[in-house]
Amino acid sequence: MYLSRSLVLAVLEEYVESGLSKSKPARCLDLLAGPGINGLLWAKRLARRVEVILNCSKASAEIVERNLQRNSLVAEIETKDPCALLHERGYNFVYIDCVGEGCIYFDAVFRNLARNGVVIFTGKDDSLLHGGSYDAAMRKYGGRIIRTHYARELGIRLFLGALARAAIRYNKMINVLFCTIHKNSFTVAVMAEKGCDSVDQYMNKLRLLKHCNVCEERAFYPFHNGFPVDGKSVNLGCDCALNNKPNNAMEISGAATVAESSHELGPLWAGDIFDASFIEKLIDNKRSDDPKVVYTLKCMLEEARCVSNGNVKISAGSPPFYYNLHKHHPKIAQQCKLSKVIVLLRNLGYRASSTHFDPLAVRTDARAKIICQIMESEAKKSADKMDTF
Ligand SMILES: [Zn+2]
Repeated sequence: MYLSRSLVLAVLEEYVESGLSKSKPARCLDLLAGPGINGLLWAKRLARRVEVILNCSKASAEIVERNLQRNSLVAEIETKDPCALLHERGYNFVYIDCVGEGCIYFDAVFRNLARNGVVIFTGKDDSLLHGGSYDAAMRKYGGRIIRTHYARELGIRLFLGALARAAIRYNKMINVLFCTIHKNSFTVAVMAEKGCDSVDQYMNKLRLLKHCNVCEERAFYPFHNGFPVDGKSVNLGCDCALNNKPNNAMEISGAATVAESSHELGPLWAGDIFDASFIEKLIDNKRSDDPKVVYTLKCMLEEARCVSNGNVKISAGSPPFYYNLHKHHPKIAQQCKLSKVIVLLRNLGYRASSTHFDPLAVRTDARAKIICQIMESEAKKSADKMDTF
């Protein structure tokens, strides 16, 4: 809660100070304001550069009013239905700290959002983050996810996919500024940009994901413009489908058929989940003096860049998803250190970095097979060294 509050304040300050907001003062709405602490912080830090609107329950309105008076601050207090308020007029900056699912605000939030408007969601949707409830994910966000070792990013990408579909209905595209997970809550910040020129541009960002149930290798389906794509043609680079013996097969009408070794997940957001230049500006312009926020921003920047040592041309955006080293560990005696794996991958020309989604995982464009090979050869090297002594 505290971290997301400081992050939201840092984003709002950068948004207002850098002139990204089309209106001056920027109209900023805390949709589910509670006691109104966010609004107080915004009004105190940014004074007349923001017009603060706090929407809270009738029971909280008196407390919010008292808090504003005590701090000699000015803000508008509303006690309306959140979606009705979003439909009523336009805003430049909207913060939604939702306790349950955020999807109920998706349509309303883009209805009147200004060009370059920023929306930040904070959620505590456990079933989504851990892929625990297949049914709930499908109902709320219109896509399939399952329990995996990379479920946290999977959940975020499902959330973003549903958000992008809502934005496009109002001729807007989303640019994801960042997304972060802290304990059991997540924060997602997006900027609404002008809608795409062609539907292909939009479809390119929303794709299905092929996931191997055995080794958890995964790959996005290629972009297609209406012609069917055979799931079997999506190469995962693992041999699990070949090794899937008929004795595990399902009996259908007396004929044995090989059980499927992979799942088709999504549709998910396949675009970038970090805007490296925006995160860099937040750090460089010292938008937060909270060490926890600065640390989180630095972690996200490293992840967004995901560098390599090789002479490889780095395309925009970081590689999607990450590999948990405990899950993708070869059968060797010693656990290989994450920092070592990152260095080895980078030396081989792959992009690699740690990820704040999972402290035991590496974000890389290398396949799981390569990571295992690297760890095996490293274990062999250390065994040979021991033998020489
Ligand atoms: Zn596999």
